Amino acid sequence: MYPMIVAGVVAAIGVILIMGKWLQKLSSPHCPECQSINVSVVEQKILRTHHSFVPGGRDSGNTTCIQQEIEITYYCSACGHKFSKIIMQTHT
Ligand SMILES: [Zn+2]
Repeated sequence: MYPMIVAGVVAAIGVILIMGKWLQKLSSPHCPECQSINVSVVEQKILRTHHSFVPGGRDSGNTTCIQQEIEITYYCSACGHKFSKIIMQTHT
């Protein structure tokens, strides 16, 4: 029974990783002015940090989960437009 659960968890993590990559590709930054994806990050600002405890973590019980709200400023090298985007990042 136990190896089945491990296999299930590994499969779930794999799906999450693939979905994450896919979502990242889907939401890849592009210039709102000229739609170019030729943009680069010029600034990253942490707006807010949330700490939360996730009970029942691996090995030693509880794990800490850190969620950060980050404002990323991009520069479009195609037209010179600057724009920013707010994203949520989770660290465990
Ligand atoms: Zn542009």
